[in-house]
Order: sequence, then structure tokens, then C-alpha cells
Amino acid sequence: MMNDSRTQASDSGQGPGPSTLCVHGGTHPDPATGGVNTPIFASTAHAFPNPGLEPIYPRYFNTTNQRAVAKKVALLEKGEAGLVFGSGMAAISTLLLSALKPGDHAVFQNDLYGGTHHFVTTELARLGVEVSFAATVGDIAAAIRSNTKAVYVESPSNPLLRCLDLKALAALCKPRGVMTMVDNTFATPINQNPIESGIDAVLHSATKYLNGHSDLNAGVVVSTEEVIQRLTRSAVNYGGMLDASACYQLERGLKTLALRIERHNGNAGSIARFLRGHPSVSRVNYPGLEDHPDHTVASRQMRGFGGMLSFELKDPGQAGAMLGRFRIVTPALSLGGVETLVCVPSATSHRSLSPDERKAAGISEGLIRVSAGIEDIGDLIADFGTALEGA
Ligand SMILES: *Cc1c(COP(=O)(O)O)cnc(C)c1O
Repeated sequence: MMNDSRTQASDSGQGPGPSTLCVHGGTHPDPATGGVNTPIFASTAHAFPNPGLEPIYPRYFNTTNQRAVAKKVALLEKGEAGLVFGSGMAAISTLLLSALKPGDHAVFQNDLYGGTHHFVTTELARLGVEVSFAATVGDIAAAIRSNTKAVYVESPSNPLLRCLDLKALAALCKPRGVMTMVDNTFATPINQNPIESGIDAVLHSATKYLNGHSDLNAGVVVSTEEVIQRLTRSAVNYGGMLDASACYQLERGLKTLALRIERHNGNAGSIARFLRGHPSVSRVNYPGLEDHPDHTVASRQMRGFGGMLSFELKDPGQAGAMLGRFRIVTPALSLGGVETLVCVPSATSHRSLSPDERKAAGISEGLIRVSAGIEDIGDLIADFGTALEGA
């Protein structure tokens, strides 16, 4: 890339910081004008043979826009290479399909993102991949068999923000030849780099924090050159690429990622502490609170605790009415954008579970999930205060 000098490790061995990488990493300034942004290269047809170049085609995942944004995320995640997809699910499904074949076994965390859970239990199972679900690193260890090829987890998880010890997970899997995959969507590379803990592949729904403005679907995988090359060979067949304009939009969103995450972290922590002190709230789930069951693990492997939290109302019957009393906060699915969103998982993301399954998973009818935005914290606290009045 044009400005590799800005994003390479210096003589001291220390690479540029994450805010610098957000702005400059991977970016390909306009060679024609010196414009500071990667231009949108819209062509699907490229003259060939092209001295020294491979055939370029958007579905080969090798255009300048695709490479620029993949490189930026790879640098932020401290991986060797990355690949950008048309959605989080395209990234997740393509990685799993490229790594697993009939007769293989894979272990998944039980409180997965709903779309991933659905993919695993329908598509992977239909293709003859054996799947197990587990909650803790100990349960994962017990589930590993001679034909286990992959372990896939999310940390922090949705909606209880449980965190798994990623170093312990990598140490368990590496000697057994089991590939580890972490969906890092909730934490973002600003707060957590699973590859530094020895994890093999990191996935993102870039729809959420990486783009950050609730106006684009995209996904990313970051891993070694070798894994990304193998993944690209499958991805070309499955065809889930991201087009040039969307790559540009994602690259623009990423430039402010570090700045946004700082505010998301601060606002989520303040909302969590406010809710914990509120008489209508029985419990708050946020890894930054000392009484969260995984606070110690989270403090070790995260630089910030993220923008997601959830809480339980003492009277679960009040959840619906409470959502109707917000003025700034919006009741909505999805997460990771600049606006604060709330939802009731038992009625939305976890609706398909039976009441008993929800109870076993710790998701009560009075549990409310919050994606803290970047608004002024005083306005947000006042809005939560108003919505909780009478709850
Ligand atoms: C949203 C989400 C996904 C799926 O991403 P899409 O862009 O909607 O395909 C995967 N994992 C997590 C944790 C998510 O929040």
C-alpha cells in the first residue's frame, strides 16, 4: 500500500497505535491526485494481462478497495491478513465451510449470536459436520474428540456479556491441532485482540462497531496468510464479497473506530453504574463491574469493557412499558452504532427458545440489553431515569 511507512513497526519494534492505524492503516491515497482517501475503484472489468498482476475481479476479493479495508482491520487485529465480506454471516459461514468437512466435529459456545447458531444447527449439521455446544473452557475441553477440527466462541457473549479466558482456550486447542475462532464483534479490536492470546482466527460483523453508523452490512475474517489464502479459495466459490462503494463506506467508518469506542466504553460503564444503583433494577451484566462473574478474566484480556450491557428489572412485567418511555434511546435490534439502542432478548433475539431453555440460559423476561451509543452521558442517564420511573 502507498503509505506502508506510516503503518509499519518502527525500529523500536512498536507498531503505530490503534488510532493511527484506524486513520492510516491500509489506506491507498489517490495515486492520480494525492487525495488522502482510497478512491472508489468501481470497475468489475480490468485489462489483462496486466504486467505483474493477477486477474482483478471483485468476486476474487482482490480489488484495491477490498484490500485496503481488509488490511486496516488486519493491522488493528494484529493478524497477518484479512478478508472482507458482504455481511457478518458471509464471513462466519465461509470460514466454517472452508475449515470443516463431513465427519469433522466442531465445538461452539452455547450462547452464540442467533444467526450463527442457526447456521450451525441447520447448514453445518445438514452437511454432516458433528457439532457440540459448551459453556466454559472446561466444558469445551470435555467436548473435544479425536475428530474435532474447530472451536468457535464469542467473548463477551450476547446478552449476558460472559467472557471466556482466550489464552486458556488457545492453550487447550493448539496442541490438539484444533483451530480456534473468536467472534470479536462485541469487543472490537480497540478493546481486545484475540490473536495476541493465541487464537487462530478472528471474525467480525462489521455491520456493528467497525462501520459504526447502522447503515451497512459487512463482515471480516483476520488470521494468518495461510488461513486467509485457503479461505479466499472458498470465498471465491461462495461469492459473498463486498462491493467497492460499501468498502469505501466501511473504511470511512473505521477511521473513527478508536475515538468512538472510547466513548462507547465510557457511556456503557456510566450507564451500568447508574443502573446498579437504581431501586427498580435487580441485576446489571457488564464485564467492567467488579461483581460480574468474569470481571477478572475480562480485566486481563480486554483494554476496555465495551459498549454492550444488559440488566434485569425487579418486575419483569414492566419491560415493555419501560421501552415505551424512552425519548432519546431507541428500542431496536442490532447494535454498535452511534445511537443508543435497547431490546428485550426474550422477545427478540432469543424468542425462538422455549421459556425453559431461556431460563437455563439465564435470559429472563425482564432482561433488557443496551447498546450504549456516543450521545452525551447526562442525556442518556436522564433518559434511563425517566424510563425507569414507575417500573
Ligand atoms: C450481527 C452479528 C453477526 C451477524 O452479522 P451480520 O452482519 O448481520 O450478518 C454475527 N455475530 C455477532 C456477534 C453479531 O452481533
